[in-house]
Amino acid sequence: MSGGTGNLVGERAGPSPAIAGGLMRALTLVADRQIELRNIPAPAAPAEGEVQIHIKAIGLNHIDVWGWRGMAFAKRTLPLIVGVEAAGEIVGVGGDVNSCRVGDRVVAYGALTCGVCKACREGRDNLCENVASIMGFHVDGFARDLVNMPARLVVPIPAGVSFRDAACAPVAFGTVQHMLFDNAKLESGETILVQAGGSGIGSTAIKMAKAIGCTVITTVGDDAKAAKAKTIGADHVINYRTERFEGVVRKLTGKKGVDVAFEHVGPDTFNGSLLCLKRGGRLVTCGSTSGQSITMNLFQLYLQQYRIFGSFGCSLRNIRESLAKMAAGLLPVIDTDVRLDDFERGLARLESRQVFGKIIVTF
Ligand SMILES: [Zn+2]
Repeated sequence: MSGGTGNLVGERAGPSPAIAGGLMRALTLVADRQIELRNIPAPAAPAEGEVQIHIKAIGLNHIDVWGWRGMAFAKRTLPLIVGVEAAGEIVGVGGDVNSCRVGDRVVAYGALTCGVCKACREGRDNLCENVASIMGFHVDGFARDLVNMPARLVVPIPAGVSFRDAACAPVAFGTVQHMLFDNAKLESGETILVQAGGSGIGSTAIKMAKAIGCTVITTVGDDAKAAKAKTIGADHVINYRTERFEGVVRKLTGKKGVDVAFEHVGPDTFNGSLLCLKRGGRLVTCGSTSGQSITMNLFQLYLQQYRIFGSFGCSLRNIRESLAKMAAGLLPVIDTDVRLDDFERGLARLESRQVFGKIIVTF
């Protein structure tokens, strides 16, 4: 996909049609639950070690909803450009950048990691000791026409993968890849319980687990979602509003329990997910949308020899692995596409949980 002629300093593919008079569009959070589409100055040419990306698509995630609602503990100042997960095309490269060139299609890592600490050097950016911030949450994010990023933090999109699908790689796919394979070490032939299979990460977990030959049990909140979960590969779907999922999982597994539980719901389901595990089973969680705290039975924890993994974000390697899966045909489930000025409508839809899969914002 390289269309440039080399890595000339400050090389530009020409201004985007969206950029007029040095101004570009930016979706800006100005107060809790208040986002405005503003015109702001376009960034300067990329500095040494940076690339300039023309953003084409953004994936929405629950972290966007948290940021939009406002979080008392988050250290940040408004106004703030939103957008945590994005794909785009490189339109400029700074000096000393040899890893990519103008015309390359890329996704960007969603956090400004240092690149020099032990964790970063080992490729575990999500454990960076000096991580500055999460884009679109603590500092300005990707919902703008142009953004300058360290070249180190962009990953090329393979041929044949659209911007729209690729926009799900840095957070949704990357997070699930990291949870299932680095943390829970999910293996072919195992049985997994995926909580909230209609969510962006839940639907991704179903597809990734099914792709390696696992038996997938998932929970959903209504019958329409149950049908959709089956079409993307779930073997058993439980409507948690009409059935106790713990009991159904016991029955489905012949009282043995599952090897892995995939959690992100939190207090509403966490202890139930633990109860669904077989002895020595693994629970991996990356979120807690229903609250923050639970009471846990410690006797059960050690007698059953459960292993519990907290997981946040992913490594650059996980993003490459995710994009390779997309190139091989494992594509994200997309609920809705919304235009840039409908970003808030997308967030409201995500917050209401009336989604099956990802919401994508296109420019
Ligand atoms: Zn670091």
